[in-house]
Amino acid sequence: MANNQGEGPAIGIDLGTTYSCVAVWQNDRVEIITNDQGNRTTPSYVAFTSAQSLVGDPAMNQVARNPTNSVFDAKRLIGRRFSDPSIQNDINLWPFKVIGGPGDKPMIMVNYKGEEKHFTAEEISSMVLIKMREIAEAYLGKTVKNAVVTVPAYFNDSQRKATKDAGGIAGLNVLRIINEPTAAAIAYGLEKMVGSIGKRNVLVFDLGGGTTDVSLLTIEKGVFEVKAVAGDTHLGGQDFDNRMLKHFVEIFRRQHNVDISRDSRALRRLRTACEKAKRILSSTIETAIEVDCLYNGIDFFSTITCAKFSELNMDLLRKCIKPVEKCLADAKMDKSCVHDIVLTGGSSRIPKVQQLLQDFFDGKELSKSINPDEAVAYGAAVQAAILTGMGNEKIQDIILLNVTPLSLGVGVRGPVMSVLIPRNTTIPTKKELEYQTLFDNQASITFHVYEGERVRPCDNNFLGNITIPVTPAPRGVAKVIVCFDLDIDGILNVSSEEKTTGVKRKITITNDKWRLSNEEVERMVQDAKRYKAEDDYHMKKVKAKLDLENYAYNMKNAVNDENICAKLSPAVLKEIKDAIEQVIQWSLDDRHVVDLKPYQDKLEWLKSICNPMQQKDDN
Ligand code: ADP
Ligand code: MG
Repeated sequence: MANNQGEGPAIGIDLGTTYSCVAVWQNDRVEIITNDQGNRTTPSYVAFTSAQSLVGDPAMNQVARNPTNSVFDAKRLIGRRFSDPSIQNDINLWPFKVIGGPGDKPMIMVNYKGEEKHFTAEEISSMVLIKMREIAEAYLGKTVKNAVVTVPAYFNDSQRKATKDAGGIAGLNVLRIINEPTAAAIAYGLEKMVGSIGKRNVLVFDLGGGTTDVSLLTIEKGVFEVKAVAGDTHLGGQDFDNRMLKHFVEIFRRQHNVDISRDSRALRRLRTACEKAKRILSSTIETAIEVDCLYNGIDFFSTITCAKFSELNMDLLRKCIKPVEKCLADAKMDKSCVHDIVLTGGSSRIPKVQQLLQDFFDGKELSKSINPDEAVAYGAAVQAAILTGMGNEKIQDIILLNVTPLSLGVGVRGPVMSVLIPRNTTIPTKKELEYQTLFDNQASITFHVYEGERVRPCDNNFLGNITIPVTPAPRGVAKVIVCFDLDIDGILNVSSEEKTTGVKRKITITNDKWRLSNEEVERMVQDAKRYKAEDDYHMKKVKAKLDLENYAYNMKNAVNDENICAKLSPAVLKEIKDAIEQVIQWSLDDRHVVDLKPYQDKLEWLKSICNPMQQKDDN
């Protein structure tokens, strides 16, 4: 297959919270691309000054001088609402300012070229993506247009869509958004090692700069399914840096009898030196730390061993392993059933972390041959090559499939969820269903979109709604087609069209609740089982209601038939018409969906009243 995208090769980008990484498939292998500073990962930092904007290493290097206009952690903001409690919590920790913008969108406020400027998280992330693209273009000597971008497995639709938008703003054609743990598993080619077992259970341990993410995937017939995710949103490499920083502030105090803990610039410079030392300690047992003119012209020099580093961070290092237990428990899987343990995230290079993890798995070997901080971009590059037909036979056959975790459907004013896309359907998928008006002269139909396994819409997760005007006509005449288009990134587009007028309405589901956590998905699936009897009974009630309404409407049509009416006395005819109207009104009032019997009784009653008509009709 030729590269049908018409532009240079497609790249894979790991857009990280603290660091990003870009890779490309070239000469039958993946190449991790170094930036202009010679680094294989680039800080996800954007800084604004009176003269320019900076991205990556230069942005991070000037943070001490310009803290309020140096933006990082945009990934924690992207696709979320300003009022989101996690955002409100993070705001207190950030040196830059975030305010609530239109539509509850968080806006990052900075001073740029002497003016107050507001940026969305998508815009900040797009600047990082542009930087990653430029790194790739400088290396390849060609323009790059297409990319696969990764996101955490727990990202909801809104966060995925916003990440895709960031790519769009950066002028990239985002071929696909894929899960970070899935990318890491692809990097190791695990989908090809399914072999005789038919299914592989993969635990991906991602310890990054500020987050710990543990995911349990199963790979079966090319389908990567996320079984469970667990983690800590505020535990990562930066916490280890902070512990070292505290340690060296104390050493400096002892050496020179001065306290630098209030000097933010000195702290920043010392912290940078700590991070560097920490990285070195992942491959040696001792290293030196040196900062010229740290404070009042005093140079700082000290050393630290790997053992000391572990001791300073022991409680934190143990805490990182905790989510592994939780993830396995949530997936109801014993650790002995895990086939692969994949390391990702720069901090999982720390030997002590690897040892704790390996001990937890009773000595099982860890997959770490690909640099952990590059594994995600590596897998994204493989996926990008496949999507553009650039890979060789080795990777040609990898298909990447995802499934919907919950059924998707609509509640049409009625009390039953009408499922368009059943759970575990492979995505992308598209499904259409036709709906009719429920009563005479109905002017519009509102479709409430839900996800879940329960019969009653109200027991499921509400995602949004769409209202379409219809031509007033007797019940059932006007027809509307509803279409669910679920793309490969899990983004749901719902459209509806009135068949006679051709009027169309469309919504994209960007509800934050969409893409529930795995725990919530599991709970909903369990609930559906537990409440099966209740749901079955509900179905019976709904059927009784429909039987009643169908009978009433049939009779309503019949009384309008002159042949039938002619045989009835006006008094009887009036009684029948009144009874029909009364039943229709009564049934339309949803408050009656309380029990089965009232519907059955009402139907019996109406039948008895309409009896003369039927008899005449039968004769
Ligand atoms: P992100 O969290 O954005 O996904 P990474 O996975 O690249 O980013 O992780 C970045 C973190 O990894 C930083 O805290 C960095 O200091 C740390 N790190 C990178 N290399 C090493 C190493 N060799 N040893 C220890 N920590 C490292
Ligand atoms: Mg990462």
